[in-house]
Formats: sequence, structure tokens, C-alpha cells
Amino acid sequence: MANTRTVKRIRVDADKCNGCRSCEIICAAFHASPQYSSINPARSRIQIVRYPLRDVWLPIFAGEYTKAECSGRETYVIDGKEYEECDFCRASCPSRDRFKEPDSGLPLKCDMCEGEEMPLCVKWCLNDVLVYEEREEEYAKPVVMQEEMELGLQSLIDRFGLKKLTESVGKLANR
Ligand code: SF4
Ligand code: SF4
Repeated sequence: MANTRTVKRIRVDADKCNGCRSCEIICAAFHASPQYSSINPARSRIQIVRYPLRDVWLPIFAGEYTKAECSGRETYVIDGKEYEECDFCRASCPSRDRFKEPDSGLPLKCDMCEGEEMPLCVKWCLNDVLVYEEREEEYAKPVVMQEEMELGLQSLIDRFGLKKLTESVGKLANR
């Protein structure tokens, strides 16, 4: 019997966005530690690319971490509006500060507000820019949690070095 899983998706109707940044505020507050104790938009997993003079407001969600910078750059022109290099990119990457935890520099990734019934940025967007959808999808192999753990460990190794990380793990194990 085929395995199925629920795929969560947020559809973005960017033309409706007015750059109010409510989505950034609630995401940052939800992911503060302790939860809702502060609002630092740099901690948000959704960020609005803004060029007010060009009437550009573009919500982008934090995606995968990568330690490699792109070797090329692209520029998009859509409906006569020009976007800058990397504007559409969702990666937490070494070439910029976007999607990095401001205190630790660790990569941020949208987790669909784990534990909530509906993503909070969707709830807080009063302009219907963000629309939440779910669908059932078949998949061939079990979701491998280990891959996610290894990706997280790799980002820690890249940032702090294997030696420091091993020392910290050793300390925690002996507590
Ligand atoms: S779904 Fe949740 S975690 Fe993802 S960007 Fe929206 S508020 Fe942030
Ligand atoms: S809450 Fe909606 S309208 Fe406001 S910035 Fe976010 S996506 Fe745009």
C-alpha cells in the first residue's frame, strides 16, 4: 500500500501585498524565545522584499540552508518591474544576512508554524495575499528525519567547526 502524507502549501498572490509586514511581526514573535517575548523581524521566516519607489512588495519564505554561494546571478523583470539579484531566492546562504537567526547566525527555515492549526502569517495577512492549502500526496519512501538532523549538524559544523561542536556535545552528554 502506498504511503501518503499531507503536503502543506501557502499560495502567494504577490500583487495584493501592500508591505504592511504583519506577517513578519507574527512570525518573529512566534519564533522568539520565550515565545512572544520579543519582535525582531530579522528572526522572521517570511520576509518582504520592498522597493517602495517601484511599488514592489514581495513575500519570500525561508527555505533550505546552503553553504555554497551561487556562481551566477539572475535578474527578473515581471510586468515591467525589475527585481534585484537573489530577490526570489529562499535559501539561507553565505552571501547575505537574510534568513539567519540574528543572535547565533544559524539558518532559519519556515516550519509552517509547527503545532498551530494554520500558519500564523496566513492568519495575520488581512489582504488575502497568503492562502493556505493542504493536499494528500503519495510518496515512495518514508520521510527520513535523519537527513534533516544531518543538515542541521552540517550548518553548525560550518559555523562553529567540528572541534567546538564535539566539545559542546560532550559537555551536554555529561550533564
Ligand atoms: S508559516 Fe509560520 S513559520 Fe512559516 S513564514 Fe509563516 S509564520 Fe513563519
Ligand atoms: S501581511 Fe500580507 S499584505 Fe502585509 S506584508 Fe505580509 S503578505 Fe504583504
